[in-house]
Amino acid sequence: MGAIKDETAKWISGNWDSNLEVGEWWQRLADAGYAHPTLPEVAGGRGYDRSGNTEVRTALADAGALGPPTGLGMMLAAPTIAKNGSPEQIERILKPILSGKQAWCQLFSEPNAGSDLASLASSAIRDGDEFIVNGQKVWTSGGQIADMGMLIARTDPDKPKHRGISYFAFDMHQKGVDVRPLTEMTGRAIFNEVFIDDARVPAEDMIGEDGNGWRVANDTLMFERLSLGANSVPLPSCTPGSIAGNLSRSAGEMVNRVHSGEDGVPSPNLTFWKQLVQLAEKQGQMQDPVLRDRLVNFWALVELNRLTALRGRHPDASPATPNIGKLMMSELFREARELSATVLGMDATLRSEPSFQAMAQEIIMFSPGPAIYGGTDQVQRNIIGERVLGLPREPGPEKDTPFSALPKN
Ligand SMILES: Cc1cc2nc3c(=O)[nH]c(=O)nc-3n(C[C@H](O)[C@H](O)[C@H](O)COP(=O)(O)OP(=O)(O)OC[C@H]3O[C@@H](n4cnc5c(N)ncnc54)[C@H](O)[C@@H]3O)c2cc1C
Repeated sequence: MGAIKDETAKWISGNWDSNLEVGEWWQRLADAGYAHPTLPEVAGGRGYDRSGNTEVRTALADAGALGPPTGLGMMLAAPTIAKNGSPEQIERILKPILSGKQAWCQLFSEPNAGSDLASLASSAIRDGDEFIVNGQKVWTSGGQIADMGMLIARTDPDKPKHRGISYFAFDMHQKGVDVRPLTEMTGRAIFNEVFIDDARVPAEDMIGEDGNGWRVANDTLMFERLSLGANSVPLPSCTPGSIAGNLSRSAGEMVNRVHSGEDGVPSPNLTFWKQLVQLAEKQGQMQDPVLRDRLVNFWALVELNRLTALRGRHPDASPATPNIGKLMMSELFREARELSATVLGMDATLRSEPSFQAMAQEIIMFSPGPAIYGGTDQVQRNIIGERVLGLPREPGPEKDTPFSALPKN
């Protein structure tokens, strides 16, 4: 920790005020480049690497300040637009993400296009200065609170399947967009199905070039794997955008709410591990040598994940580091589930008030998710095999055959 943390702390002491509204505080963070410090300065960031980002987050945590907006806009859309958008798009489309004014969702997966995402069938047909969009998306996390969506749709079915796709910043508040929540076994509806029926997107909202959407989408997926596998300094924050209703709330109140566990997103990290050990000690379970062994293994996995994230920062890091980090995160969730269930016993099946038990229950119910979203474990292994180990790609006619001529199921 060094100069960046000190500089950030100085800025926070002149700007953080728990009486500010969330929207005002986020605007200050965005104007100063602290909302997303790893973005380049021209895209509203500070051009820091990940260790600089850790320093900024540590300074915010030390001050007890509300963190930057959460969600897929910050995690995926902002870095994708910073990399592929025009200066005008950065100003108009990216900046409202940094100040939390707009929340985003990721309109990628379809009923017949998950792991094989390039098989997507949603279409965007040019009509003057606009495209008309039709199709169905599914598993759209946060679709019900999204102002905008990262939409990939087929603009040319006569090109091979990876080459006829374009990427759009898509307005979710329009006629022809029907968002229907899907309830999962956690009891919440994280994701949705989204039906798009003759909706419109201006041509000027295409990110990257026409037909180049697969490459842009791969940038989004890489940012997703990087952030899903990474360890970061946890900060209290809340959902951005016009629908969630947090922008006019008091920033200090949001910090307290998260600290009281009302809005927290559980993560199988070192804090979780410590609480689990404390509970096992309290319940007299630490005499069990098998449990002790598994707890130490879990600690080692958390630590390995931290070191993998650190290794990923090195310029010579393997290009597969994000994929490896994402695989490790799946394993962490699985192991956290097994350990929580062992320590909690029957209590693991009971819903409780915000507490460690509630957090563990959430992890148990949510644990299958990380091995699926952002590309399944099997797909991560395929990528590592093909792109890093140089194993042959799966054979097939897909590379050169027009999408319209490919067999469909
Ligand atoms: C909690 C959660 C949130 C999500 N949020 C979003 C979101 O916001 N936006 C979005 O667009 N999508 C989202 N998804 C969808 C996610 O990206 C897909 O579920 C994922 O890509 C897998 O696709 P699928 O479900 O169609 O499974 P399929 O692709 O049908 O796969 C079924 C099984 O076959 C295996 N398989 C498939 N192909 C291969 C292969 N070539 N080699 C080896 N094994 C293979 C898979 O690993 C899997 O086990 C989310 C999913 C979850 C669980």
